[in-house]
Amino acid sequence: MLIEHAAGLILVDTGYGEQATVRPDDWVGQDLLRRTNPVLDHPIAKQVEALGFSRTDVRDIIVTHLDLDHAGGLADFPEATVHVHQAELDAVARQPYDRRQRMRYRPAQFGHGPKWSTYDESDSSDDHWFGFQAVRQLHGLPPEILMVPLAGHTPGHVGVALDTGDGWLLHAGDAYSYHGQLADKPSMPLGARVFQWSVDTQRQRRIDNQRRLRDLVRDHRSMVTVFSSHCATEFEQLRAARP
Ligand SMILES: [Zn+2]
Repeated sequence: MLIEHAAGLILVDTGYGEQATVRPDDWVGQDLLRRTNPVLDHPIAKQVEALGFSRTDVRDIIVTHLDLDHAGGLADFPEATVHVHQAELDAVARQPYDRRQRMRYRPAQFGHGPKWSTYDESDSSDDHWFGFQAVRQLHGLPPEILMVPLAGHTPGHVGVALDTGDGWLLHAGDAYSYHGQLADKPSMPLGARVFQWSVDTQRQRRIDNQRRLRDLVRDHRSMVTVFSSHCATEFEQLRAARP
């Protein structure tokens, strides 16, 4: 998600980034390349430029989490401030990595020294947003943009809510990955279900947050549009609606 506002561009997540094709072994790793065969030739920095902007116009980046398919493009915007949940940075810093962590967090992607701006969940008594707690405004950014903790997939996973002036958008990152999961009767293809299970770090929190997201859609459908990082159906619906 790219947000244009008076002080510059704000990007939410960055994909694999340009270095994924330059140094795939470090950046992505052969294991994941073989398993998922990701499309690497439309890096987000090029997409920003194709819209007529310079990549240096991106002053702020909010990351839903630091998995390699979301953080790989940070290096293409080295001057940007990167807004991240503290628990996610802690998870990246915790060594040694086991096999699963080696697949999801790639130290090479942080080698340029991102300018982190961090958030935690202390003294969160009144920071509620549609039933979600510890919701934060972001340092130096407009109040229409909120960080919404949605842990489970990773320890510091968040969503990003945006008040467009004509309803809210909630980018839910990888809090879920298939549109059917937010239906009244949730459904999901078996393969996606197995994948989700294999990448949970806090399963009960992931399940609880999906229930909150389902409640949000059921009760506030006309006010909030929720979407996730990896659902092609949601992507096509949003593209058709041109929000
Ligand atoms: Zn992802």
